[in-house]
Amino acid sequence: MEQKAHILVVEDEQKIRTALTDFLEFHGFSVTEAMDGLEAERTVDKGKFDLILLDLMLPKISGEQLCCRWRQEGLQTPIIMVTAKGQEKEKIKGLELGADDYIAKPFSLEEMLARIKAVLRRTDPARAVGQTFKFADLDVDIASLKAKRTDREIEITKREAGIIQYFAANPNRVISREELYKEVWQETMTELSTRTMDMHIAKLRSKIEHDSANPQIIKTVRGAGYKYET
Ligand code: CA
Repeated sequence: MEQKAHILVVEDEQKIRTALTDFLEFHGFSVTEAMDGLEAERTVDKGKFDLILLDLMLPKISGEQLCCRWRQEGLQTPIIMVTAKGQEKEKIKGLELGADDYIAKPFSLEEMLARIKAVLRRTDPARAVGQTFKFADLDVDIASLKAKRTDREIEITKREAGIIQYFAANPNRVISREELYKEVWQETMTELSTRTMDMHIAKLRSKIEHDSANPQIIKTVRGAGYKYET
């Protein structure tokens, strides 16, 4: 069973906080609330979160200060900064301070949900697609390292599974080789690793593409990288 993503909602306006919590719990998230900067700081010290919704204007310690402090301390949890309308400057500052995204008040809950999902997908692709998922005309099972097509079953390596999983979580977007390498290999790319990755992509294509000379699942975008279209 996939674990619920745990979200910390830092918001001093009780109405907004409650509405967010109810809505997010309804959509399958587990939620912890903090009503000011101090409580947020204490909560983050104690717990582990998949994402933090951080209001900018908070009593005691501001969202800006918190974000700055957390990033300095090396906290990598994705942060969506919530700003009031017209705080354009703060938005930009928030991103500079290390927030992953921002959303302006008043926001719709649906919009907030879309942002949360996008940030989670970006920061943790495995969670976004899970252990079994569709990839083009394949049914991929990460746990058993198998990709199934109506007529046959294809064995894939762990690395190939990682590559597929990353593309599946990021459809319709050009992914550079640097990004793919960083996300799948968890290392920075070197000249040698460029070749390593090209070999992996070629091998993977020979397994899953109908015609690996003309790949249609993992497409090459000339000079830019690869793209998986849905
Ligand atoms: Ca506030």
